[in-house]
Amino acid sequence: MPLAFLCDFDGTVSPRDIGAAFAERFSRDGDAARVPELAAWRAGRLGHRSLTLAQCARLRAGEAEALAFTREFALDPAFAPFARAALAAGDKVMVVSEGFDFYVRDLLARAGLAELPWAANALVFGADGAVEPRFPFADPACDACGNCKAVHVRRAKAGGFHTVLVGDGDSDRHGALEADTVLARGSLLEWCRAEGITHTEVRGFADVFEWAREATPRARHDRRRDRPLRAAGGGRA
Ligand SMILES: [Mg+2]
Repeated sequence: MPLAFLCDFDGTVSPRDIGAAFAERFSRDGDAARVPELAAWRAGRLGHRSLTLAQCARLRAGEAEALAFTREFALDPAFAPFARAALAAGDKVMVVSEGFDFYVRDLLARAGLAELPWAANALVFGADGAVEPRFPFADPACDACGNCKAVHVRRAKAGGFHTVLVGDGDSDRHGALEADTVLARGSLLEWCRAEGITHTEVRGFADVFEWAREATPRARHDRRRDRPLRAAGGGRA
């Protein structure tokens, strides 16, 4: 069974949270990173889509200066080798991000991964420096997330993949609940532990690569064949 790796971007593919740094750097009066909505989101009372809308209302940024800023961040150096090996093995690798399209597209291309599929929220840059978020991957039945990772996981499952969610944060929870395997770090790891969600701890993509090498044979195994063989003569496998 092929694997589908659905990889969070901020804090995962990029070890640092570029979206949060962008919000802090370009807030009009330095407050976008400390909006009251942030505490409500952290407490689980507000969806990330609402948080993004509140933060963007306080931002002023031109596309060129935004790109110049986000290009200062590096991707996990193990991500590109991991992705190339996974694709060569016939697996699927997709970036699913609650951050913004402009830096996800740019940093993947600069890492030589322009062809890798990704999904993120869109940020529209206005002429006056105002920015407007759009949510092309929101789940209309749920107002929590801007980009619903659970939908991406379900779609990969329906395509016949064993799904592996790789993430570090609160916006990965719905995807983690749907995925066959969860590889977690950061607050996602803490949440998995607290909620009793089966997971494997990873520090970065060197560990994901290692997991893919070692645990893959089991994950690939068609689970219908995992049942013990019946006694001799028990029929066709
Ligand atoms: Mg993250």
